[in-house]
Amino acid sequence: MRLVLLGAPGAGKGTQAVNLSQKLKVPHISTGDIFRYNIRNGTPLGKMAKEYIDKGGLVPDEVTIGIVKDRLAQKDCSNGFILDGFPRTIPQAESLDSVLLDMGVNLDYAVDIFVPDTEIIRRLSGRRVCPACGMTYHIHFEPPEKDGACNGCGAALIQRDDDREATVLNRLETYHRQTEPLIGYYKAKGRLLVVDGQGKIDETTVKLLKVLGIK
Ligand code: ADP
Ligand code: ADP
Ligand code: ZN
Repeated sequence: MRLVLLGAPGAGKGTQAVNLSQKLKVPHISTGDIFRYNIRNGTPLGKMAKEYIDKGGLVPDEVTIGIVKDRLAQKDCSNGFILDGFPRTIPQAESLDSVLLDMGVNLDYAVDIFVPDTEIIRRLSGRRVCPACGMTYHIHFEPPEKDGACNGCGAALIQRDDDREATVLNRLETYHRQTEPLIGYYKAKGRLLVVDGQGKIDETTVKLLKVLGIK
C-alpha cells in the first residue's frame, strides 16, 4: 500500500506510522526524521535544514522533494511506503504525483489524522524522543516504563528543540497556511480519508485500519 499521512504537527502521524509500517510491511519514511539524522551528524543538509526547523517554518521544497525522490527510488519502496510529514505543500504534492507517475504506480490514500489545535499543544509540549533510536513517548499519554529512559535502548529521552512553546505556535501557523490545503488537494483527487485522531493511540490505530480496509 502507498500512503501519505496528513495531519498537524503532533497529530500522531509518527506514532501511527510505526504501527502501520509493521502491519503492512512497508517502510515508514519521515522527512522530519531524515532532517534530524542529518542535523545530528552535522551534514551540510542538516545545517541548512536546522535554520528553518528551529524557526518553525518549512525546509525549501526543492531540497525536500529531492530527498524524497531518492528515498522512493530505493528497492524497499517497491511494494509500498508510508510517507509521514511529506508532502507538506502543494508543490511537494504535485512533485510526488509526478514521481509516482514515473514509477508507474498510484498513491492509494492520503489519510488526514484530525486533531484540534488545543490538543496539539498538549501533545507537543509533552512529547519526548529517544535520541538514539528515534522512539517517541509522551510524559502523560505514553510514558516510558522507566522515567526519562527509552524502553527499547535505555538512552535518556530528550525534548525536541522545536517542541518548545514559541516554536510550536509557529509550526501550527505554518501547518494551517501551507499544509492544510493538501486536504482539499487529495479530496479533489478522490484519495482522501479522514480519521478522528483525538482518541487514545490504540483507538486511532483501530480507526485507521478500518478506513484502510486492513484486517
Ligand atoms: P512533526 O512530527 O511535529 O509534524 P516532523 O518531524 O515531521 O514534525 O518535521 C519537523 C520539521 O522538519 C518541520 O517543522 C519542518 O521544519 C521540517 N520538515 C519536515 N518535513 C518537511 C517537508 N515535507 N517539507 C518541509 N519541511 C519539512
Ligand atoms: P506527529 O508525528 O504527527 O508529529 P507524534 O506521533 O510524534 O506526532 O505524536 C505527538 C505526541 O503525542 C507524542 O508525544 C506521542 O506520544 C503523543 N501521542 C500520539 N498519539 C496520541 C494519542 N492518540 N493520544 C495522546 N497522545 C498521543
Ligand atoms: Zn531508544
